[in-house]
Amino acid sequence: MPFTKLGLGPNFLRGVQAMGYTEPTPIQLRAIPVVLSGKDLVASAQTGTGKTAAFALPVLTMLGIHKKEGPRVLVLEPTRELAAQVETAFRDFGRYSDIRATVLHGGVGYGRQRSELRAGTDVVVATPGRLMDFLQEGELRLGGIQILILDEVDRMLDMGFIHDVKRIVQKCPPKRQTLFFSATVPPEIAAVASFALRDPVRVEIGVSRSVTTLITHAIYQVHQEQKFELLLALLAAIDFNSVLVFSRTKHGADRIARRLREANHSVAVLHANRSQNQRMEALEGFRSGRYEVMVATDIAARGIDVAGVSHVINYDVPENPEDYVHRIGRTGRAQAVGDAFTLATPENNSDVRAIERFIGQEIPKLKLEGFTYKSASDFPPRPAPQGRRGGGGGYSGRPSAPHPRGKPGAHWGRR
Ligand code: AMP
Repeated sequence: MPFTKLGLGPNFLRGVQAMGYTEPTPIQLRAIPVVLSGKDLVASAQTGTGKTAAFALPVLTMLGIHKKEGPRVLVLEPTRELAAQVETAFRDFGRYSDIRATVLHGGVGYGRQRSELRAGTDVVVATPGRLMDFLQEGELRLGGIQILILDEVDRMLDMGFIHDVKRIVQKCPPKRQTLFFSATVPPEIAAVASFALRDPVRVEIGVSRSVTTLITHAIYQVHQEQKFELLLALLAAIDFNSVLVFSRTKHGADRIARRLREANHSVAVLHANRSQNQRMEALEGFRSGRYEVMVATDIAARGIDVAGVSHVINYDVPENPEDYVHRIGRTGRAQAVGDAFTLATPENNSDVRAIERFIGQEIPKLKLEGFTYKSASDFPPRPAPQGRRGGGGGYSGRPSAPHPRGKPGAHWGRR
């Protein structure tokens, strides 16, 4: 079915056309009519499925024109990058209308955001922390919100935003439409949905744990000492446009970037210790092709949308099996073909098995032709590990308490 049959407003259809979209994606086909009907929605769909347009287009249609009365739509996002991206989508689709969208997120000054709010806006896209600041200042009121969109709820929970999210939901009028998007909907997320939504329609795109069939996965087994060498050899062996390399830690990301630069690659870095300007510069440079490689941590890369990422390389095996799905979702977006490689050391075996269980498929284990693999006996003995760096301050925001019975493997995927 074409976009024209979905009941979207003509000026927003022009916006869609200007974006070059021809056919709606499955989530757009299924969610747009539900949103237009005014019903609440719980959709399990990952980024990369076209979910932003699935809510932005019908919401813009329902708003119709700019009104002076203050924001009527609130979108909550877990990260600055995602908030900026979603606001851009509202502006892009709404370019032939007078509807105004404003993004509120941390990492930048308050001035411009405050003046946009004062000038009057229809759609606020925000991260919870900065939104709370504006609410406390009295600069923003949510009494006029007609549609509340909670996006990437699983990640908002992971990042410890749950209390802020609940408080924000309570500040919105009870009579409203609520749209809820989450890649996975485990019980604790279903609990948030039942708190925030009324009698929602459920839309599930694919199996929530699935990975797109357009991506070729491979695991390259290697000893820790040879990981960087193998990364360089892989980069030399593949025909890539733009490569996203994932590191578990911020310091690791900086180290990989430095060594890649030494090897004459043009590299951007994205992690939470970088300033907002540095992050924007990194993303823009990667998007425009100025950087061929971007090294990122999980949170920073969450939801980033860069067309044409040809390869994702997991320099470190992700800590959570879900993160594997999110990471490799950065390639093969919107029906393009992509490759996802993971460098795994013998110590990562149980994490790899956890990922395979999670995605329900075995990932092929490959050897890079022409690369001289060394064996464990070629390396000097390593000091015994001192336990996980950072202890309870893991990036997921969840406490990393030991398993009650200390059973290895029972806490699968999290060491
Ligand atoms: P999202 O899941 O919203 O992050 O979208 C993923 C990517 O797909 C973005 O680059 C969108 O611009 C693109 N996209 C979304 N819908 C369509 C469509 N119907 N046709 C082509 N590209 C699309």
